[in-house]
Amino acid sequence: MVVRKGIEVSGVVQGVGFRPHVYRLATERRLAGQIRNTPAGVDIEIQGESDVVEDFIARLSSEAPPLSRITDLHLRDLPSNGDVRFVIVESARGAAVQTLISPDVAVCDDCRRELLDPRDRRYRYPFINCTNCGPRFTIVRDIPYDRAYTSMARFTMCPDCQAEYDNPLDRRFHAQPNACWRCGPQLQLWDASGNPISSDDDDPIAEAAARLQAGEVVAVKGLGGFHLAVDATNSRAVDFLRERKGRVDKPFAVMVPDLATAEQLCEVDASARALLQQVQRPIVLLPRKPESLPEAVAPRNLDLGLFLPYTPLHHLLFAAGGFRALVMTSGNRSEEPIAIDNEEAVRCLRGIADSLLVHDRDILLRCDDSVVRSAGGAPRQMRRSRGYIPMPVFLNEALPPVLAVGGELKNTICLTKGRHAFLSQHIGDLENLGSYNFFEEAVEHLQRILEIEPRVIAYDLHPNYFSTRWALARDGVEKVGVQHHHAHVASCMAENGLDGKAKVIGFALDGTGYGTDGHIWGGEVLLADYVGFERAAHLAYVPMPGGEAAIREPWRMALSYLTHCGLKLEDLPSMARVEAKKAELVLRMLEKKVNCPLTSSCGRLFDAVAALLGVRETVNYEAQAAIELEMLARDSTDECPYCFALVEENEGVNEGWIIETQPLWQEMLADLKHKVPASAISRRFHLGLVAVLAEIASRLRQRTGVDRICLSGGSFNNLQLFERLQARLIEDAFQVFSHREVPAGDGGLSLGQAVVAARRC
Ligand code: ZN
Ligand code: ZN
Ligand code: FE
Repeated sequence: MVVRKGIEVSGVVQGVGFRPHVYRLATERRLAGQIRNTPAGVDIEIQGESDVVEDFIARLSSEAPPLSRITDLHLRDLPSNGDVRFVIVESARGAAVQTLISPDVAVCDDCRRELLDPRDRRYRYPFINCTNCGPRFTIVRDIPYDRAYTSMARFTMCPDCQAEYDNPLDRRFHAQPNACWRCGPQLQLWDASGNPISSDDDDPIAEAAARLQAGEVVAVKGLGGFHLAVDATNSRAVDFLRERKGRVDKPFAVMVPDLATAEQLCEVDASARALLQQVQRPIVLLPRKPESLPEAVAPRNLDLGLFLPYTPLHHLLFAAGGFRALVMTSGNRSEEPIAIDNEEAVRCLRGIADSLLVHDRDILLRCDDSVVRSAGGAPRQMRRSRGYIPMPVFLNEALPPVLAVGGELKNTICLTKGRHAFLSQHIGDLENLGSYNFFEEAVEHLQRILEIEPRVIAYDLHPNYFSTRWALARDGVEKVGVQHHHAHVASCMAENGLDGKAKVIGFALDGTGYGTDGHIWGGEVLLADYVGFERAAHLAYVPMPGGEAAIREPWRMALSYLTHCGLKLEDLPSMARVEAKKAELVLRMLEKKVNCPLTSSCGRLFDAVAALLGVRETVNYEAQAAIELEMLARDSTDECPYCFALVEENEGVNEGWIIETQPLWQEMLADLKHKVPASAISRRFHLGLVAVLAEIASRLRQRTGVDRICLSGGSFNNLQLFERLQARLIEDAFQVFSHREVPAGDGGLSLGQAVVAARRC
């Protein structure tokens, strides 16, 4: 029996080879009908024998191209007609065709094979791509996703490329960045002043590789911006790059040619292996094997951030130089945004890069590398950026259009539309002027390509955040302030599709967030839903002597905590390293309560422990003390937790608990006196924190009956804390939710702000 069905497919189904896939399925089965792009995705009409049509529909999803993502599939019955062929109907010119834009994708196996095949017309062509791979998001100027609206617009396809582009059975059918040696973008090697360097054999890649081998710093234009590359096995070159970039201890990311090399350098388990090989090609944090690479790559760090090549150019560079590992760090000066434009790169990398490997395909949107790690077999995003953006987070209910502007550090923004929440790429620390401009660019660009006109702007309550001030200066939209830790918890709820009808217990642990009482929060237990929250418990307030200075100098927090608990600082070798005069000054500040904002920050507690332990008195990058403290604990098998005290809070509307640390310091000082190894002390501290948080969870469940727990905030990037607390809570029969797709830290804040504001407006 002949039937005709209509199939409406939504999701990421444009620009990812979906129409050729459908065309092939239909023509192979001699089915008739048509396919066309629609604002929501694609619409198919298919006609033939009913069992063949059914087989077609089944394979539509099961054999869908790798980059597509079907979010909805609706079937309808149609009257059959006289169609005998299957055709691709061109979308009407100018019609607003809007669907999900694909992120940038690592070069696929087919293209890699052609890249290395001397008989192929694209042999060694650094910009080879097809519908299954290549740049997307970073070359989009406007929608619809069509070559004319990308940075490929200036390259006119040669007849060979055009024929591929027009052939529905070709892998390059409607591959917008399609190009070859004859018609596409070209590479050039420039010297530090931007003058082309000509070499004998006119091979910029071979010349760049030779310079890297000689220990030079080469800036390499990638997908989302420039990298600064040096040979990672050459410690002098690595030191050189650190010096020139003004980057003291913060680890460098390292690109390795293949999985086998990654396994030589680091411990790679099955889930990490999968992460390394994802088409998104994130940087994956992995436990480093001893003496794998020079210490200077990641000083005093037990992990290495590794990633695999993702552009054809990367592959060619490794092949030309035979490198075992290349440092590939963001092409910028310390914390500025990554450079994307050739001239901009020459300007801002002057004095850092010796030469620049550039090309004439413009990057329209900067997009840093993403950073992930695997925790207990599940991925965790540290920085969600290239490869993942602009794929939305799928929500369990439709929301009005909201723009959430995020926090101050590791800023991202978020736009909601229906059941999609679009997080931006990593924007950075807004106190930096360059990042602030990038923030404004990103807001404008994302609104345009996603066609979202927000009715509401959500912002953090901190009056001095640049994002907050920007939001408050907007006219003609409703504005909703969202408390920082409430946003963390809501972000976790949204990612896990919780409906918000019942409250959750939210552990929001991080460094800094503005509290509703004007103090700096960060060790918070909230009883929350999307609309609001109660503060059920928090770390006791302690002064931060010198404010921001106490973040850069953890020893100040050690003094603050000991003073708060009435303990005398006995002659600890760790504190002896602090200048006596400075310590004296801080003690006086504490006594007189001058420039001592109050904080319940979990990050500052970690800082204080790290300083007392002699791990670190001052930090060179965010959370350095906490990270080094965590690593110490890995070596210990101690099972004896330090004690915290829970004190009933009398003031305030709701009854809650204050987490006091006095017993912790007493035990720790005794251990220090008895020369207990630092690793054991670190471990006992982590175990103690887990124990007191689990105790609070139990008491709260008793009081309220709530047994769902969300773990969010930057402190949960600490796996000693996250994995142990999660395991303990599951043991205690709680339902535990945390993050996978969205960062637990401030990079995920904007999602929480958006979903809260959407329910409050
Ligand atoms: Zn490909
Ligand atoms: Zn061509
Ligand atoms: Fe935070």
